[in-house]
Amino acid sequence: MNKIKKTETEWRAELTPEQYHVLREKGTERPFSGEYDHTFDPGTYTCAGCGAELFASDAKYDSGCGWPAFSAPANQEAIEEESDRSHFMRRTEVLCASCGGHLGHVFPDGPHPTGLRYCINSAALKLEEE
Ligand code: FE
Repeated sequence: MNKIKKTETEWRAELTPEQYHVLREKGTERPFSGEYDHTFDPGTYTCAGCGAELFASDAKYDSGCGWPAFSAPANQEAIEEESDRSHFMRRTEVLCASCGGHLGHVFPDGPHPTGLRYCINSAALKLEEE
């Protein structure tokens, strides 16, 4: 399903160490540390790995959780979801559909109308401001 395939060496050369850790090693940045945690400028959040459009700023809200939170993706085709049972938790992982990069997780405690909270690492995103 992923359209973009690169070797780990290529990803490592293109991404910053933090981007690589999140996107390719399923890492999580420290809460309240990310570049976009408290950004509410209008624009489009693209994948830091491949540039695919992932989230619109309209869907971003202040969840207080320490990471950028969105109530919905830009479109359903932009992301993929997978069940994640690591760290003794049952969570749903969110990945970029284009490059397979790890973005974060989605939780069922978001605002109306979707009821979803896409909890996404800043390091996986790049804001293209309007
Ligand atoms: Fe991507």
